[in-house]
Amino acid sequence: MMKHSKGILVVVSGFAGAGKGTIMRQLLENYDNYALSVSMTTRQPRQGERDGVEYFFSSREDFEKKIAEDGLIEYAEYCGNYYGTPRHYVEQQLLSGRDVILEIEIQGAFQVKKKFPEAVLVFVTPPGAAELKRRLVGRGTETMEVIDRRMRRAAEEAEHMGDYDYLVVNDDFRTCAEEIHRIIQASRRKPGCNEEFIEEIKAELKALSKGDN
Ligand code: 5GP
Repeated sequence: MMKHSKGILVVVSGFAGAGKGTIMRQLLENYDNYALSVSMTTRQPRQGERDGVEYFFSSREDFEKKIAEDGLIEYAEYCGNYYGTPRHYVEQQLLSGRDVILEIEIQGAFQVKKKFPEAVLVFVTPPGAAELKRRLVGRGTETMEVIDRRMRRAAEEAEHMGDYDYLVVNDDFRTCAEEIHRIIQASRRKPGCNEEFIEEIKAELKALSKGDN
């Protein structure tokens, strides 16, 4: 790792049911340098979801309070509920040099890109739409009405896939996690992520070349 290298923000979006959760778990299991941000949401917990682990579950009132005190890096309304990224954890992890992964939908993704231009935006998609529906139904956690709503939402989201930095097809979650890992590693080598290093080496070169010719 280069000296003074701060972590980078990695946004992973994808249609509901694209398998993002499994891919994220695989990434965190295999590599130490990633921190996964836990979002705040007003949606009801699904069976087995724990407060503070999958999400911080909150009331609309508390969520709006958090917005008012600028405690969220981004937030959006998705299928009738608020979702947002708490600021404190993300900033702390970036400073400590870890790369922070935000698993968020597209409105939030573009807010992040605006505020943090060096953030990397990755879009994960299943190989095709039929596979997407099959996975949503197979998960068995949502009613048909919610599934239909999420399929319509996926069609809207597809309009903006082309604005992401990278597109990854999830045929196999292990391969997909490896691919995302390589994308993140390459992104850390962009000059914009190493400004302090560049400034320091420039100053050193100036100092060391003093007096020559
Ligand atoms: P789910 O209800 O299935 O857990 O999530 C619904 C959508 O909200 C997913 O696309 C997920 O990536 C997105 N999401 C989760 N957390 C956040 C967040 O903090 N901000 C935004 N903008 N979207 C989020």
